[in-house]
Amino acid sequence: MYCRACGYALWSISPGRCPECGEPFAPTQFSFRPGVVKFLCPHCKQAYAGTDPFGLPAPSHFMCARCGKPVSADCMIALPGDGIPEEATIARDALWPDRKRIGRRRAFFTTVACAMVQPERFEGDRLRRGDVGEAIGFASLVSLGAIVPNALLLFLAEAMMSGLSAWLALRLVGVCVGFAIAYPVIVVSVWAIVTHLLLKVIGRPTEGFSATYRAMLYGQGALLVAAIPVMGWVLAATWVLAASTFAVSAAQRVGAARAAPAVLALPGLLIAGIVVVFVLSVM
Ligand SMILES: [Zn+2]
Ligand SMILES: [Zn+2]
Repeated sequence: MYCRACGYALWSISPGRCPECGEPFAPTQFSFRPGVVKFLCPHCKQAYAGTDPFGLPAPSHFMCARCGKPVSADCMIALPGDGIPEEATIARDALWPDRKRIGRRRAFFTTVACAMVQPERFEGDRLRRGDVGEAIGFASLVSLGAIVPNALLLFLAEAMMSGLSAWLALRLVGVCVGFAIAYPVIVVSVWAIVTHLLLKVIGRPTEGFSATYRAMLYGQGALLVAAIPVMGWVLAATWVLAASTFAVSAAQRVGAARAAPAVLALPGLLIAGIVVVFVLSVM
C-alpha cells in the first residue's frame, strides 16, 4: 500500500494523510490479495483479516469484538499479515490506480485488457473511489497510443505522394497528438454528460455523474486496438461502445439493456448525421 501521490509506504500508519506529502489516504482506496493483509481496530489494535474480494475487511462497518466500539474499514491500520512478504499483498487484479505499486506499463496494459474483456470490473470499489483525473490520464495515453502510429503512417504516405513538406507533416502530427491528449476531456466528457442525462431518464443511476464519466474513461481502453492500421478503427470503435456500455451499466447498477441506449445515443446520432451529409453530397 503506497501513497498515490509520492509512493511512500503506508503500512502500519493510521489512515489520514501521507506523512511524506500530505495526500489523504484510507486502506479502502486500495485492493489486496484476499486474506493476506490484516487490519487493526483503531481503538484497541485488535487484528482482523481482509477477506472481501478486494482483500478488505468484510463487513466494512462493524463493532469491534474486543473493545465493543464501532469500527469502519476506512479508519483501520493496514499491514501485511504475519509472515507474509509485502509483495504477496499485491492484488492479482491490480489496475491503473495501482500503477505506482505494480509499475506503469503493467498497470496500463492490465487496464486495457480489462476494458476489452471485463469492462464490468471497473465497478470495483477501488476504482469507484479513485479520482477522475487519473482515469483521464489513462484515456489520454490510450488515445495517444491509438492515434500516433496512424497519424505517422498517414502523413508519411501523404508526404511521399504529394510532396507535403516535412515541416507541415510534422505540424499535422502535432495537431493529432494534441487532439489525442485532449480527447478524454473534450470528447469523452460531452459523451458522458449526454449518457448520464439519458441514463437518468431511462434507468436509475445509483451514482453521480463522475461515476459515469470514470467508467467511460476506462472503457476507452479498447481504443488501443485502433493502433492496428486501417481496419483497427472499425474494430476499436465497436469495442469501445461495448466496453463503455458494460462499464457504465456496472458503475451505475443499471441493466446493460438500459445502459446501451444511453451510451450509444450520441455516437449513433453522429454516425447518422455523417451518413445524411454523405448521401446529400452524393445526390
Ligand atoms: Zn505521499
Ligand atoms: Zn477494538
